[in-house]
Amino acid sequence: MSVDEEIFQEFRRIGQFLDRRGLISSHGGNMSVRQGKKMLVKRRGAMLGDLHPWDIVEMSIEEIDSKIMIASTEALVHRAIYRETDHLAVIHCHPVHTVALSLVEDEITAIDAEGAFNLKRIPILDLKLPIGPVESAIHVPKMLNNYKVVVVRSHGIFAGAETLEEAYNWVTVCEEASTIRYLTMLTGKPLLRDVSKEFHDW
Ligand SMILES: [Zn+2]
Repeated sequence: MSVDEEIFQEFRRIGQFLDRRGLISSHGGNMSVRQGKKMLVKRRGAMLGDLHPWDIVEMSIEEIDSKIMIASTEALVHRAIYRETDHLAVIHCHPVHTVALSLVEDEITAIDAEGAFNLKRIPILDLKLPIGPVESAIHVPKMLNNYKVVVVRSHGIFAGAETLEEAYNWVTVCEEASTIRYLTMLTGKPLLRDVSKEFHDW
């Protein structure tokens, strides 16, 4: 299958952004876009930072077809998100500060203005099987109906949006908010201002 050049270039562009910002390990993470009753998703084992046209796999959203064998290991989570939400693009990656906070908190509250304005709270799912689609395909879509980003404890995040660029924005805002929260916790000093407590004013 030859992928539309414009879509491929968008996969390649956003994949490189994720890689350069250290939001994935070399072969980690995946992303997809919805096209009607089908989705285009990264091939299993391909590097997001160095994508080629043959690394994009077309899969049915309505039924599980044979492409599942070569698609990303999380492809069934992407499929479930498209079946149960209005999102048209999904990014899954492993931002280190967000994942680190998921190991010590039950939800991530953005305390910086940018993070609080855009995401407010970032929910954390505690799954027995944090990797793979078995539980994530059930629980992640439900959360993405109400949030832009959801964290699977100890693993990574799923971000849903209308476009890959928008989903990428939520990924970076999430990791920025997590990093700020993480660094302020490290200082051990009390917060002089916590904008998460000012939500009602916005
Ligand atoms: Zn992952």
